[in-house]
Amino acid sequence: MGSPDTATTARKGVHWTVKTNYRLRAGSFAIMFASIVLHGWDKAYSPALWSLIALQLLVYPHLMYWRARRSPNSEQAEASNLVIDSLLFGLLVATLGFPLWITFTVYIASTLNITISRGTRGMLLSQLAFAGGVLVSITAFGWHLSPATDWPATLLCLLGNTVYMIAIGITAFARNRQLRKTREDLRLSEQTLTHRLSDIQDLQAKLQEQATRDPLTGLYNRRFLDTIVDREIARCHRDNQYMVVMMIDVDHFKHVNDTYGHPGGDEVLKALSALLLEKARATDVPCRYGGEEFLLLLPGMTADIAMVRANQWRAGFAEKVTLFGEASIQATMSIGVAVYPAHGETLQALTRCADLALYRAKADGRNQVVMYGPEMG
Ligand code: GH3
Ligand code: MG
Ligand code: MG
Repeated sequence: MGSPDTATTARKGVHWTVKTNYRLRAGSFAIMFASIVLHGWDKAYSPALWSLIALQLLVYPHLMYWRARRSPNSEQAEASNLVIDSLLFGLLVATLGFPLWITFTVYIASTLNITISRGTRGMLLSQLAFAGGVLVSITAFGWHLSPATDWPATLLCLLGNTVYMIAIGITAFARNRQLRKTREDLRLSEQTLTHRLSDIQDLQAKLQEQATRDPLTGLYNRRFLDTIVDREIARCHRDNQYMVVMMIDVDHFKHVNDTYGHPGGDEVLKALSALLLEKARATDVPCRYGGEEFLLLLPGMTADIAMVRANQWRAGFAEKVTLFGEASIQATMSIGVAVYPAHGETLQALTRCADLALYRAKADGRNQVVMYGPEMG
């Protein structure tokens, strides 16, 4: 006889049902042995039958424990032990003539145990095994019936039943408590894992952001531009739209650096970037292209509007005063403009044209916007 829980907790390689069933089996089989001794001491049981009864009820539980422990799949071995229990009990009670209380006790205990651990299928299997044991006994020793059980044996059977039910209840309670704890532990680790995952996702998003942004200005970097430009050109091609590329370069920036130092120059770059970000539409891609050079990719913008907007930005920057310590820094910028598809159909072609226009803006005195024209080369 064994334990009630179907949970599968392997501990030190042996399934928990093996140990629990061993304890229950050894104890309840010993009580059953005492009941049969009380029942049969005045009956004409042969020494061979007594030996077999002792073998089954006192030695067999240890053999089954040993068998299950040795098995590579101790849970399965223990499950088959329960079926063998039923078979041997059928054999035993039929051989003894079905003493009522002893029969009831072993039948209900073995059926209950296997039902708890293996469900209806186990219960049916147990019935078959029990009936098989009865059949073997009848075939071997003939049919006889002596159901009367004296009160001492009856009393011990009742006691055995009670103890067994309580033991099963306690085992079920212990298993349930452990299951609840395991479930709670699982819930907690799941919670921790979810938090970790969310941290990792945040970190990943931050890393991705860092990989695409310039740390000084917060604008996109050239790597990002390279990854999206083909897609943007393809979109404009598909939607039959223009796209503007502006190359921006701060005028005499070397002079700014020389006058206010590198940190002063940085502040000017940041101020210009803030201005570009502020004016950008959701679809615009403002990038820091080099030291004090910026590239704006403006999908869906026409040449006319580009010139108006570029001039607004240029004028805005020229008026902007950047405070740096005690100093107020003002600078200007020049902008070269090229338009897709008129001036080129690749980023390389468009930046080359925008660069030529920028070169012209510088040559013509700076602080101005120049649109690329074929005469520039
Ligand atoms: P021009 O009007 O012809 O563009 O003259 P410029 O002085 O702006 O041109 P130049 O290319 O000679 O100088 C650009 C300077 O920008 C040189 C370089 O030290 C400086 N620079 C590049 N990157 C940074 C940066 O991140 N911060 C600062 N403060 N200066 C930078
Ligand atoms: Mg430059
Ligand atoms: Mg410059």
